[in-house]
Amino acid sequence: MNYKIAVVAGDGIGPEVMEQNIAVLNAIGEKFGHTFEYTYVLGGGCAIDKYGEPLPQETIDVCKASDSVLLGAVGGWQWDTLPGDKRPERALLGLRGALGLYANLRPATLHDALKDACPLKPELVADGVDIMVVRELTGGMYFGEKGRKMTDMGEAAYDVEQYSVKEVERITRTAFEIARKRNKHVTNVDKQNVLESSRLWRSVVLEVAKDYPDVELDHLYVDNASMQLIMRPTTFDVIVTGNIFGDILSDEASQMTGSIGMLPSASLGEGTLGMYEPVHGSAPDIAGKDLANPIATILSGAMMLKYSFGLQEEAKCIEDAVTKVLDKGYRTGDIMSEGMKQVGCKEMGKLIIENL
Ligand code: NAD
Repeated sequence: MNYKIAVVAGDGIGPEVMEQNIAVLNAIGEKFGHTFEYTYVLGGGCAIDKYGEPLPQETIDVCKASDSVLLGAVGGWQWDTLPGDKRPERALLGLRGALGLYANLRPATLHDALKDACPLKPELVADGVDIMVVRELTGGMYFGEKGRKMTDMGEAAYDVEQYSVKEVERITRTAFEIARKRNKHVTNVDKQNVLESSRLWRSVVLEVAKDYPDVELDHLYVDNASMQLIMRPTTFDVIVTGNIFGDILSDEASQMTGSIGMLPSASLGEGTLGMYEPVHGSAPDIAGKDLANPIATILSGAMMLKYSFGLQEEAKCIEDAVTKVLDKGYRTGDIMSEGMKQVGCKEMGKLIIENL
């Protein structure tokens, strides 16, 4: 098969980790007989420098015309003084909006070899952590009506939490479909004891669940969910939740995995086009020094193969290669521990290719 991929490498360590991602994908293409055709476009700080804006129309057009989008990271101190709507990070929100990406998938997987890096007690993670947080990405209070007004308590500010039936329905279906390919267990997280928007959310989840009798469904209030994640992390499979709850819980879950340099993510919409990126930022403090961990970006490439192209075996091949390299004791600086062999970004990419 031939796939067209738009590449927004971005700033800081973005281009370094992306280079290794592309090398791994090319090796997979050779091994399984696929061709990946890349179009490199600018987004973030480098686009501001060249075009005066973080997300040029050309970038949006190329991404829309592609089968999938790979993103490195954007941002850096050079652009920190620009006003909010001109900053590099606008490229992320702009692309998600332009591509209609409403589902954010953030897996939190604890590799056996990195168990020591997990801040939880060993007995709590003995059975292995493998959680997929499915977060609604384009609704809720981040996008609701907001403003300021005078009240009898003085000036007040508000951000409205609003969800429509359609918004909840589509994210719930995404979660159930993913659960079907995993351990067939969805945990819905809301706050329906207090919030009207959560009551609507819960009723839609229950309705959608009727179409998935093979998937187990349970519910947690968000405050309880944040406790249960720490007390019994190994019992979760897929978590589905709204934008703000998902923002917080996915960060909490990610901390169990050892380093931000290990965490991939996917943003999906109605069709197969998705955007795949590491969770970390552009890490200006280590950019250009061959110190970055490319695994988060390489695992994002594996997610692209799985979710946009349906290439399960190819994706598993990358995930297994990462596990093998870690089992053999190779580590980048961020996940380094005593007795292990420290390697740079390029060497880590090379080792993963050798182990495909
Ligand atoms: P960051 O994720 O870039 O870095 C936080 C810390 O983690 C740093 O010490 C960094 O060296 C380390 N780190 C991050 N990724 C690593 C990797 N792959 N390997 C090894 N170490 C890694 O977050 P920050 O410092 O708060 O932000 C830096 C810039 O990135 C800012 O401009 C911020 O706005 C931007 N940012 C972009 C994204 C994105 O593009 N998706 C996400 C978060 C932050």
